[in-house]
Amino acid sequence: MADKVYNFGAGPAMLPEPVMQKIQQEWLDYRGMGVSVIEISHRAKEFVAILEEAQALFRELTNLPENYKILFIHGGARMQFSALPLNLAGRKPGKRCLYFETGNFAKLAAKDAKAFCNLEIAASSAESNYDRIPAYNPAIFTDDVSYVHITGNNTIYGTRWNQFPETGEVPLIADMTSEILSRQVDYSKFGVIYAGMQKNLGPSGMAMVIIREDLLGQASEQTPCLLNYTQAAADNSLTNTTNTFAVYTTKLVLEWLKEQGGVAAIEQRNIEKSAQLYEVIDASDYYRGVAHPEHRSIMNVSFNLPSEELEAKFLKEAGAAGLYALKGHRNVGGIRASIYNPMPLAGIETLASFMREFEKNNG
Ligand SMILES: *Cc1c(COP(=O)(O)O)cnc(C)c1O
Repeated sequence: MADKVYNFGAGPAMLPEPVMQKIQQEWLDYRGMGVSVIEISHRAKEFVAILEEAQALFRELTNLPENYKILFIHGGARMQFSALPLNLAGRKPGKRCLYFETGNFAKLAAKDAKAFCNLEIAASSAESNYDRIPAYNPAIFTDDVSYVHITGNNTIYGTRWNQFPETGEVPLIADMTSEILSRQVDYSKFGVIYAGMQKNLGPSGMAMVIIREDLLGQASEQTPCLLNYTQAAADNSLTNTTNTFAVYTTKLVLEWLKEQGGVAAIEQRNIEKSAQLYEVIDASDYYRGVAHPEHRSIMNVSFNLPSEELEAKFLKEAGAAGLYALKGHRNVGGIRASIYNPMPLAGIETLASFMREFEKNNG
């Protein structure tokens, strides 16, 4: 057993150690109440304070304009794939909803939305196994489009949008599950940004949904109450019992991020972290990156070795060296290092030197 384990899992992913320690410290007795934070009512003033602090911190860290609501919605990112078209159905009834197919989750988002909207694939990179963000014609964002959906960072393939599409008056919607708070983003360019929480925010099973206020109030009548963003905004995400533990943990993660210097500082660190791994990949013919270099993610680094046998050996030896959960997604095989905000530089350095050493011994 290695003395230190670094968790490269794609999600649920590692959390910052100080956050885990704080949870442990407060676990049995939340601030002198004599009960745990997960044992108190979601309507208790102590919990509402946690929820509102999380929202205020998120707003501060992202420079979120005042006319955006921050919601906590059940069901992770995938539930929003259906909730989105349901909530926006009334915007331009029957009008086309454009989806960019840039990876597995992007494809699923379109698949789930199809039941509730007039879906059109704007562009796809399926042909090159999603190794890039596809080229597209900006003239497709016409008045008769209800909204445009993108996946900001493609978790499995390790690609991302470097430049978001300019959609003008048409609301741009982004699934930012695997990159929220990892880089500076101008939220005013988006109608909705949503993220499952288990990658950069906290525990699984919930999503944060950031929505521009003028997009509220247009849900289809069939929208389940708990997926209705307008209802959630009216009830400050407390229509029913929320996942209090997830909200609490997220608040601690946001406090941690603020202590790290905020999003600009963490973005710089994320660039440096991913660059160290891409440097190893680029310096050898042994490792082959999955993503086209111009579309590389700073959150997920996916690569292959010369053979599946060597990949299996790599994973086995990496595991023994304390490098956990590096197995790539079944769609691409190989290796994937998910290096979200909490991954420390030491973890990257350990992996990079393991890669160099492995190539030397098995090249
Ligand atoms: C992980 C992930 C999802 C799925 O999240 P769930 O909370 O499991 O539904 C969706 N989109 C992206 C981009 C992801 O990385």
